[in-house]
Amino acid sequence: MNFLEEKILVDGVIKEGNILKVDSFLNHQIDIDIMRQMAYEFKRRFSGVEVNKILTIEASGIAIATLLGHLYDVPVVFAKKSQTANSTDDKYVSQAYSFTHKKMNNVFISKPYMNATDKVLIVDDFLADGEAAHALIDLVHQAGAEVMGIGIAVEKGQQKGGSKLRSEGYHVESLAIVESMDWQTQTIKFREQPVLKLQNPNLTLG
Ligand code: 5GP
Repeated sequence: MNFLEEKILVDGVIKEGNILKVDSFLNHQIDIDIMRQMAYEFKRRFSGVEVNKILTIEASGIAIATLLGHLYDVPVVFAKKSQTANSTDDKYVSQAYSFTHKKMNNVFISKPYMNATDKVLIVDDFLADGEAAHALIDLVHQAGAEVMGIGIAVEKGQQKGGSKLRSEGYHVESLAIVESMDWQTQTIKFREQPVLKLQNPNLTLG
């Protein structure tokens, strides 16, 4: 069991409809120590991968992306969401269906913030059906940039997003992969993964 799985077991709440709530450390209140550990673990898992930009989608990916951007010392861009049809002027625009809000969002990046020389590491809080990740990939490709990897905090392995992205050839690293969860018994099973060994338990980003 790794630090994130342990945190989910202690603080996560399983809701009806296959939703895992982790508001106490990721989606509402942000636990900086957990974010820091996640950033270090992504950096370790993507070691040897060239990255000059971190990309996420508002809002919950921003905290992880920021700490990761600090570790790589590269800019962090977050795609914005909007329900209204946007003019495509000066923006790369894609669409993603929101699993949690049950609605279609336009997602966009202003053109100056993504370009053909970018080697992009995509990060997000959750991976479910892969809608958000595919929209981000689409935006990167519209800019002529390259997706170097996809780092996910919590992958819901019972949904199709992770297997689809991997079958498309993307390097996906998920720190916790939920195999199954039951809201009535509040039980959760994770896919076996190598234990995350932190080199320095007293991590600092400075
Ligand atoms: P996908 O686009 O892969 O279908 O879903 C991922 C997005 O939906 C994430 O950005 C996340 O915001 C949200 N999401 C999907 N499933 C869950 C969940 O079980 N819990 C939470 N908190 N967010 C989720």
